[in-house]
Amino acid sequence: MSTLEVKDLHVGIDTQEEGYQEILKGVNLTMSTGEIHAIMGPNGTGKSTLSETIMGNPTYKVTQGDILLDGKSILEMPVDERARAGLFLAMQYPAEIAGVTNAEFMRAAINARRAEDDQISVMNFLKRLDKNMKILDMDEEMAERYLNHGFSGGEKKRNEILQLMMIHPSFAILDEIDSGLDIDALQVVSKGVNSLRGADFGSLIITHYQRLLNYIVPDFVHIIMDGRVVKTGGPDLAKKLEDEGYAGLRDELGIDV
Ligand code: ADP
Ligand code: MG
Ligand code: MG
Repeated sequence: MSTLEVKDLHVGIDTQEEGYQEILKGVNLTMSTGEIHAIMGPNGTGKSTLSETIMGNPTYKVTQGDILLDGKSILEMPVDERARAGLFLAMQYPAEIAGVTNAEFMRAAINARRAEDDQISVMNFLKRLDKNMKILDMDEEMAERYLNHGFSGGEKKRNEILQLMMIHPSFAILDEIDSGLDIDALQVVSKGVNSLRGADFGSLIITHYQRLLNYIVPDFVHIIMDGRVVKTGGPDLAKKLEDEGYAGLRDELGIDV
């Protein structure tokens, strides 16, 4: 079992206009493999900042607190090292990389996480690729296309889930993977994530809407407002939020933001 702990995390950025701005103001969150956690919250409250900080985007400066993977701080680790340690970030807006095929990218990513005498064989790689592409209902030729080049928004998302399934990290941070997906694509993407569920996989699912959580049912739901986790509950908390809106929760908690 692995654990990922976010402890009293304070994060900010240096802006040109207004200097240093604090975004996260003491976030606490503990998750273990085997669990799916959802983070919900209004726009601009720091959800993406939290995921970028966990993955090590240097734009976001940690001024207080810590992020621990299995009890060890990862704050000094660069992005690639965090990925090798078992973290995976699927982004709101996946990037295009020209000149590298999808399959090459995935095989390199898998092997980067393995020891030199334990690299995945081409055979095993192709078997896994085939199995996972079938689950995602993807066309075979997608593997041979250049990474994200000319992919539609929906194809990019589906492809990111394929990468996730192939890499099979300990913890996946999925930031608004539902944005811009129609209901069919949403179901396929959810099927992929659900196929990873198990004792050796945990996920932090960030979403603005409850809809995704009908398909990927979380064990825990955390609400972030104004840079803090203001409430934690089970899947019913997301439903309550859908019914009452963030305004209702603000009233309930007496938050004035
Ligand atoms: P969310 O994902 O919850 O919508 P974000 O974490 O993206 O929120 O943003 C939180 C706040 O920090 C917003 O006010 C946003 O404008 C600001 N912010 C985040 N990243 C940057 C950045 N790179 N440059 C300037 N402001 C940023
Ligand atoms: Mg946003
Ligand atoms: Mg965001």
